[in-house]
Amino acid sequence: MTKSITNSYFWSMRKLILLFLLTFPFLLHAQSSDMRPVLVVGVVVDQMRPDFITKYWSKLGNNGFKKLWNDGFNCKNTQYNYAPTHTGPGHASIYTGTTPSYHGITGNDWYDTPSTDTVNCVLDNNVIPVGTNGWEGKASPSRLLTTTITDELKLSTQMKAKVISVSLKNRGAILPGGRAADGAYWFENATGNWITSSWYRNDLPKWLIDFNGRKWSDEYLSRPWTTVLPIKEYTESDIDDSPYEAPFIGAEKPIFPHDLPKLKGNTYSLLVDIPFGNTMTKDLALAAISGEKLGDDTITDFLAISFSAVDHIGHQFGPNSVEMEDAYIRLDRDLADLLTFLDNRIGKGKYLMFLTADHACIDNPIQLKDKKLNGGIISTKAIQDTSRYFLKMRYGKAEYFRCRIKEQVYLNTELIEKDKLSACDMSKELATYLRTHIIGMNKTLTSCDMQSQMYQDLFQSRIQSGHFPGRGGDVYLLYQAGWTEPIDGADRTKGTTHGSPYIFDAHVPLFWYGWHIQKGSSFDEVNITDIAPTLSFLLNITLPNACIGKKIDAIIK
Ligand code: ZN
Ligand code: ZN
Ligand code: ZN
Repeated sequence: MTKSITNSYFWSMRKLILLFLLTFPFLLHAQSSDMRPVLVVGVVVDQMRPDFITKYWSKLGNNGFKKLWNDGFNCKNTQYNYAPTHTGPGHASIYTGTTPSYHGITGNDWYDTPSTDTVNCVLDNNVIPVGTNGWEGKASPSRLLTTTITDELKLSTQMKAKVISVSLKNRGAILPGGRAADGAYWFENATGNWITSSWYRNDLPKWLIDFNGRKWSDEYLSRPWTTVLPIKEYTESDIDDSPYEAPFIGAEKPIFPHDLPKLKGNTYSLLVDIPFGNTMTKDLALAAISGEKLGDDTITDFLAISFSAVDHIGHQFGPNSVEMEDAYIRLDRDLADLLTFLDNRIGKGKYLMFLTADHACIDNPIQLKDKKLNGGIISTKAIQDTSRYFLKMRYGKAEYFRCRIKEQVYLNTELIEKDKLSACDMSKELATYLRTHIIGMNKTLTSCDMQSQMYQDLFQSRIQSGHFPGRGGDVYLLYQAGWTEPIDGADRTKGTTHGSPYIFDAHVPLFWYGWHIQKGSSFDEVNITDIAPTLSFLLNITLPNACIGKKIDAIIK
């Protein structure tokens, strides 16, 4: 009798243990998927304004931007809280939760006083290209000075979380991944392949070798770019043959169809100027999710995607072009593909996504002027010539002027020191002279003043938050709102550009979607540096080490 009781007790305990062992992984999964999402997907659209979604609303599908709008949380008043609003600083600030004055990415390029050379924010001669022998593979996050949300995720998981980032632009991939990413992959213009550097690893992963082997770049450049909808339906945009658009190099007019095979030339750089560059980025992201098994276990992974092609299309054709509208209709479909893939593979509500932009853009300044608004193109030659003239007249040497990079003027501080002069006095006097002698100027700020006083004015304080002594210029030029530098990547007066602290460059979209995200929207002001801390609190991990942002409470369910 005793034996049989013991026996049945033994068997029922055995059953309980077996049941526990069978369900344990699911219990663990259920618990951790409640604590953290299995995957975070950060999406940056390069040069996106919030009004693009409402402007193109009737042309968008239900599963792309509209899904984020209808089922996610829309922070409608998200602003860049520093300038310059360029791509490198934008990506760095989103992911570090701080401004260039701390993370050090003060521009795409800057004159680096310590190394006495002009440097790019990610190009790095100390790393070896991987997947190529070309210079485009010599890039790393070594100039990024503070941790990213992705770095903190790695640190908080004993480096077990996987962090992968992809973008056509090297800086769009490298800076979001932080310094501890498992892989950052970008597009090589020379070959049409996706590459990386020895900062991350010494060979390409198999899934990427396979992806490159499929020769998508050739495929996308093998036929013309035509509008996805009948062109007469693009009523939200200006005429196709607009005087404010620059034609592609080799084309006579900025009009559809764009004959890509004819325009291609010797490299694949055209691919970053057309919507198919975004589609290829999306396909690469899907390949990375499968290839790296992102979100397959209970440790949260992170995928950072940056869609760069719309920035180039904006520079070339401007935000009122049929080309831009077509690019967003196609990007909406790419986003729908991405969301559908994530729903099927990871599961609805199991991943967390945010979507924002690294800066926005201005309407073409000449077009503004033609519509009777204040606008124009600053003469960068006048900035250089006037600076040199003033320094020669006042201090005896034009060579005290070193260079101008975008909106910043650099003095030759070594020469100034050698001649026992004060760089602060010189930069203040030059700042005053430039402000009064250059057409289209509003204010000028000096590095010396930015290090010794606090600005209260919104736009001046944004410039101060973007300044890192030794990397930023000696004089910062704030143009009048509506005025820009000559537009790069296109005809000097056509298309658009960005970089200012003003609203047209600083106001960007911000959507949250998925795991623990409330449906809704808010007009409350959010800073771009609030994204990273919000992610930290959602993931229950440490804040990036120089984070100045605040968490956004309203989005959390
Ligand atoms: Zn950009
Ligand atoms: Zn056009
Ligand atoms: Zn740009």
